[in-house]
Amino acid sequence: MDIRTQFSMSFHLDKCLGCHTCSVSCKNIWTTRRGAEYMWWNNVETKPGTGYPVTWEDQDRYRGGWEVSGGNLRLKLLKGPGKIRSLANIFFQPNLPTIDDYYEPFTYDYQNLFNAPAGDDQPTARPRSLITGEFMEKIVLGPNWDDDMGGSPVYAANDPNLKALSESQKECLTKFHKLFFFYVPRICNHCLNPGCVASCPSGAIYKRGEDGIVLIDQDTCRAWRFCVSACPFKKPYYNWATGKSEKCIFCYPRVETSQANACAHSCVGRIRHVGLLFYDADRIEETAKVSDERIVEAMRDIILDPNDPAVEEAARKAGVEDNWIVAAQNSPAYKMFVKWRISLPNHPEFRTLPMNFYLPPLSPILHDAKSDTGGTFDPISSDFFNDIDKMRVPVRYLASLLSAGNEQLVIESLKKQMAVRIYQRHKRIGDVGADVAKNALAQVGLSVEDADEIYTLLSLATYEERFVIPETHRESQTSIDPRTVYEKRGTVGFGKKQHNRELLGRSW
Ligand code: SF4
Ligand code: SF4
Repeated sequence: MDIRTQFSMSFHLDKCLGCHTCSVSCKNIWTTRRGAEYMWWNNVETKPGTGYPVTWEDQDRYRGGWEVSGGNLRLKLLKGPGKIRSLANIFFQPNLPTIDDYYEPFTYDYQNLFNAPAGDDQPTARPRSLITGEFMEKIVLGPNWDDDMGGSPVYAANDPNLKALSESQKECLTKFHKLFFFYVPRICNHCLNPGCVASCPSGAIYKRGEDGIVLIDQDTCRAWRFCVSACPFKKPYYNWATGKSEKCIFCYPRVETSQANACAHSCVGRIRHVGLLFYDADRIEETAKVSDERIVEAMRDIILDPNDPAVEEAARKAGVEDNWIVAAQNSPAYKMFVKWRISLPNHPEFRTLPMNFYLPPLSPILHDAKSDTGGTFDPISSDFFNDIDKMRVPVRYLASLLSAGNEQLVIESLKKQMAVRIYQRHKRIGDVGADVAKNALAQVGLSVEDADEIYTLLSLATYEERFVIPETHRESQTSIDPRTVYEKRGTVGFGKKQHNRELLGRSW
């Protein structure tokens, strides 16, 4: 067992307001520089919708992530006659998104509002390109261009996740009177098997062994942009001014001092939780090869139980500090993903083993329940769990987004969330009997203690409970090279392994 620690963020999708405060706080801190104007390390997408860059989830188009071929794991990007194609593509990658797939960043000519000479018409603030400085005639795209337009056939129709739906389900989802949409905030997933790291010809991207944060060494980056292509989430961005790639750094200067990431700290809906996970680095490759149907379970398996004395001892032997072990034991990420099984990864079928997790939204079910009972949610209905199958957003859609198509995992999470609501209704309003409430919990395998803890964590949690972030003691970490390299054994092109060894003198 090669025990490693990993920061992980969880998102409670029912509570996201789509206010974009997270995106703005991230931008204000990290991407206001020239060349970074179009970058949104944190962005919030309306679903169903096309996303940013447009249709990023469509790997037939972008060829990001991994596939299993002949029993081996290989980057989709490198599909074809191996390294020959890779080398042929090194100067031109046909699957790279262009600026038109993001948007041409712009500002407005605000000064004209103040300085325009007197005239018959009101002065206007025309849009001006932040790349060329020229006036733009027409703005056709932005980072949240289809914000709140989830039901619109113009945008929702292009959502790659709709491929999984039948025609009648698609129609149901996009009919105006049935319209329902929700928001999906996205940052880099700081994956266990990151395509960006494995693809970099320069060996500039590395995953820190001590906390799992994936970073790009700006001195080593040579602008090949393979990271942009190989990341199926399209979270590395090319800075056209510096000629280097950049990405979300999980706010490492903040988390090292025990502060929450800027996006999480500023989150108005308090939908985000940050915690630690322990995982077994020896099992990354075998986990990434598991079939779509089972890959989420395999991801749960590779996460180690921080309360297991053997794991605790192994962590200590591996040099993990005591305050990190305690933090892992109190980790909201561990509880939600592994213990209660209510959170799920985004597109696990891309096989990067993403380490951020989402609680699927329950609200469409409750909305239906209200309408069926004349405006009153009736949790006593004997078939309340069946309503889950009648959601406005079909379970199949959520499964395409969060569980590689495994609908049972989504249903499991939704039922548990529903059971907790029923139990709390019993406790707080009293119109549900104790037997009904406890029966609901028993049906989904939750105890009363679990239900209380889930309710507290998702609804009432304090700052310290939402963000269980231990301080990093760099002064006592002489044995851990902060630039520890993630080595993708045997799957990396361009001799990167060798390069990393030479560069850093060690690998793990
Ligand atoms: S999401 Fe994963 S593959 Fe993409 S940049 Fe982040 S770590 Fe790399
Ligand atoms: S700040 Fe929070 S609630 Fe607002 S859009 Fe971001 S994740 Fe959603």
